[in-house]
Amino acid sequence: MSFSAFELHHDLLKAVKEKGFEQPTPIQRLAIPPLLQGRDILATAVTGSGKTAAFLLPLLQQLMNQPRGKTRVLVLAPTRELAVQINEHWAELARYTGLKAAAVYGGVSPAPQAKAFRDRVAAIIATPGRLLDLQRQRVARLNDIRYLVLDEADRMLDMGFLPDIRRILETLPTERQTLCFSATLPPPITALVRDMLHKPVALNITPQPLTAAGITHVAYPISQELKSNFLLALLAQNESKSILTFTRTKHRANRLADFLERKGVRCGRIHGNRSQNQRTAALDGFKGGRFRVLVATDIAARGIDVEALGLVCNFDVPQQAEDYVHRVGRTGRANAAGDACTLVSPDEEGRLRSIEQTLGRRIPRKTIPGFDYTRERSAVAEARAPEGRRGGDERPRRRYGPAEMGGVEALDRRKKNVSKRFFSPARSR
Ligand code: AMP
Repeated sequence: MSFSAFELHHDLLKAVKEKGFEQPTPIQRLAIPPLLQGRDILATAVTGSGKTAAFLLPLLQQLMNQPRGKTRVLVLAPTRELAVQINEHWAELARYTGLKAAAVYGGVSPAPQAKAFRDRVAAIIATPGRLLDLQRQRVARLNDIRYLVLDEADRMLDMGFLPDIRRILETLPTERQTLCFSATLPPPITALVRDMLHKPVALNITPQPLTAAGITHVAYPISQELKSNFLLALLAQNESKSILTFTRTKHRANRLADFLERKGVRCGRIHGNRSQNQRTAALDGFKGGRFRVLVATDIAARGIDVEALGLVCNFDVPQQAEDYVHRVGRTGRANAAGDACTLVSPDEEGRLRSIEQTLGRRIPRKTIPGFDYTRERSAVAEARAPEGRRGGDERPRRRYGPAEMGGVEALDRRKKNVSKRFFSPARSR
């Protein structure tokens, strides 16, 4: 199937072709037709599935036939990075249509955002907090909105945005088409969806996420103290690759980045304590090849889209399977192959196993031949120091011995009775 089957405007098809999209992804195949008919949808789609174009293309198509000069589309996204990402996607897909969008998020001057409202750009892509601020200042005008997209709704819930979203919803015209995308559907999201959507078409494309299909997953058992040096070894082993690495906290991100810089590795950092300008500079530096490593926390994981990203490395095992999916979703984006590795200390084995159970697949354990696993505490130990004081990390660290490595291998023999959904081969492609 090709995009021309959707009978999209040729200006959109031209942009799709220039983006290099040859075939619609499963979510695009399923979502675009009902959206073109004006239906509401509720889609459970993970990151990397091509969901952004799945909603942007039909919205753009509908706007093509309408008078200009009104802000018709509102997209709500949980993070600034995701808002910027969607805005970039819009700019690329709408490049021949003259339809403009603007990203609205906190941490930067509101002046250009206020101008976008005054200019009545076709679409506003906003994080809830800044949008509410601008509404309170009577800058944000939403009375012409006809299309509402809630992206990554479950992440909005995690970040405590649901009350803000309900407040924004109260100010929107009720006559509208509403789209909700969420990786999971916890009860508060189901309740919100019930209030917000009108006879929605339910789409569930989670069984074959493109992100997961092309990715090679590996876990490296390694003591907490040796993790930073191990990352250096990984950099040496993957000479030509850039590495996006995730830590559990901002402090660990800073300490790891400091360590790498001391070792002569150029790296950027993205986390909640960095200003928007610093985040943008870090991401641009990484995309442009100035930084070989980008150190990030989960909060910043969404919305980072780097083409041809070599390796995603979980410096810390993620708290939940969902975070794992989102982190590794930064590599192997739609149809591309990618590598994901996880550094797992003995203390983190339990968490990795529960992620494996949720995902329905064991992640193979590997070692780097030649790496000195017996080395005493390395400089990296500092990567955990601040958290020790904040509780939970004060316990003496267990170290891996040969027996424990065997124990990990024994996991291979354990029978699993969980779905194969996450790692299933790319049947859909
Ligand atoms: P998303 O899930 O919207 O964040 O998209 C993930 C990535 O897939 C982005 O880098 C898109 O540019 C890319 N993408 C979206 N649709 C397609 C397609 N039909 N073919 C190839 N790549 C795509």
